[in-house]
Amino acid sequence: MADEPTATAVAGTFRFQCSSCHKVHVGSPSVAYRFPDHYAQLTDEERKTIGTAQSDFCQVGDDYFIRTLLEVPIIGASAPFV
Ligand SMILES: [Zn+2]
Repeated sequence: MADEPTATAVAGTFRFQCSSCHKVHVGSPSVAYRFPDHYAQLTDEERKTIGTAQSDFCQVGDDYFIRTLLEVPIIGASAPFV
């Protein structure tokens, strides 16, 4: 058991290319979506006429969305999973 890596050590071993900035990051990747599903399913024409999307806010018709983050603590890790 003493040779098993800690959660912190495991989190530090991840290397991934970020889909937002395209840089390679080291650490635990976060799960995120660019748009709410309501907006993602719109056609290009519908996006121009009934939808608007910014980094934290989105509107589709009368539906409004705000981006939020959910931090999930990991036992033994210094940073939460987001
Ligand atoms: Zn990035």
